[in-house]
Amino acid sequence: MAAEKGRRVDFSEDNDPTLDHLPALKSTSPLFIILTPSYTRLMSDQVKTPCDTIINAGWVLPIAPRNIVLEEASIAIGGETILAIGARGEIEAGYVAQSNLQLPDHIVLPGLVNAHGHAAMSLFRGFTEDLPLQAWLKDSIWPLESRLLTAEFVRDGTRLALAEMIKAGITCFSDMYFFPEVVAREAQAAGLRTQIAFPVIKFANAWSTSAADALHKGLALHDTYRNDNLVHVAFGPHSTYSVSEADLNKVMMYAEELDLNIHIHLHENAQEVTDAHNRIGRSWLVYLRELGMLSPRLQAVHATQLTPDEIALLAEAGVQIIHCPHSNLKLASGICPTNQLLTAGVNVALGTDGAASNNSLDLLGEARLASLLAKHLEADAAVLPETKALEMATLGGARALGLGDKIGSLEPGKQADLIAVDVSEPRFQPLYDPIAQLIHTDAGSAVSHAWVAGNAVLIEGLLATLDEASVVAAAKHWQATINRTCELPA
Ligand SMILES: [Zn+2]
Repeated sequence: MAAEKGRRVDFSEDNDPTLDHLPALKSTSPLFIILTPSYTRLMSDQVKTPCDTIINAGWVLPIAPRNIVLEEASIAIGGETILAIGARGEIEAGYVAQSNLQLPDHIVLPGLVNAHGHAAMSLFRGFTEDLPLQAWLKDSIWPLESRLLTAEFVRDGTRLALAEMIKAGITCFSDMYFFPEVVAREAQAAGLRTQIAFPVIKFANAWSTSAADALHKGLALHDTYRNDNLVHVAFGPHSTYSVSEADLNKVMMYAEELDLNIHIHLHENAQEVTDAHNRIGRSWLVYLRELGMLSPRLQAVHATQLTPDEIALLAEAGVQIIHCPHSNLKLASGICPTNQLLTAGVNVALGTDGAASNNSLDLLGEARLASLLAKHLEADAAVLPETKALEMATLGGARALGLGDKIGSLEPGKQADLIAVDVSEPRFQPLYDPIAQLIHTDAGSAVSHAWVAGNAVLIEGLLATLDEASVVAAAKHWQATINRTCELPA
């Protein structure tokens, strides 16, 4: 049983002294919390504000400004924005909606943020198993990509990933893959929010002839989506070992000029760090510090190998860390020292990585692994509690992508990116602690609804913006094509 049981749970830094004077919601457990005026826009009895939708939920997890559980709560949504969250009676007294959605057996929470992945690689799911990172990349993935990559491959692979992510409650994802303009177009068509980290790599590939060509194309992509609400373009230098110093400097210069993020694989495994010491006499992280690249706009993915000094460097510079525990374990890459990073004040987000090294895109599963691994590493069951794991999967991811003021929590004024999880199944009963059940049960498969900027992308478990049958048919077609290609001489 969670340690918090038996007393009010309040994870905010600024305890509200008025809390005790406010009316309590129906409560079946001390974990459940009363609402404060900061959650609700109080309305006069006579005037009701029109809105598009009121969601009445069994439980609501706002994540911020307080990481608490609200029981029998409601959310009013107008256009793409959350207007108010509060006790059911209070919201119904203040708002009149075009549609009222009853979700009595559901937990409603912010949409999950998958902060690292390669969506189209879903078509390689399960193709190569049981290899370590370097062999997996050099002997399998890179040769496959050199023979198969086209805009059509990326289109169909991205659609497959989008369908899976939406059904798992992911409403925002970061992607680093070739033909990023195709990924951006498909994500926008499916109504998902995305950070497109266009790939910068020194090797010629199906999308770019050189790093300079990639930068040219990526900057044009940024121009296309400069004012888009859903698509955000970032720089995606693949890694320090696959991009020259001159090109990393160019990335840094453009990123500062345009105020864009930089997304990079860093210290993924011990071999990468050993190679760095052999090649340049120091770690890649120290090298990036010398280049001046460590800053809050840098999103460092993996970081399984960090010294205490390097953790201090990351904290001092405000670098975002993206932890992909399933991929790291599967490729035997190592384990990100999450608890040490969080203790040092570093923001840590979660990513699935591509399905080729996972093999699923289940962010709540990543949150579970992150929590379990941190407890195991520190030999302390109190480390990385479920509340923190869920925060990493939502607000932590939003902050890592520079979207912390827009999404990641259910707060008035933020974008209406939210999901509902149906907890009526036996595996969720009894439900003493909704957050623990989301993390430690297979809750990703129980996501029933999802909205992005107020638009439904999943309704009662059915995709609203993608044709699931044609997505699956295309994946089967590519499976046959990939098998045929591999039978041909290289
Ligand atoms: Zn990756």
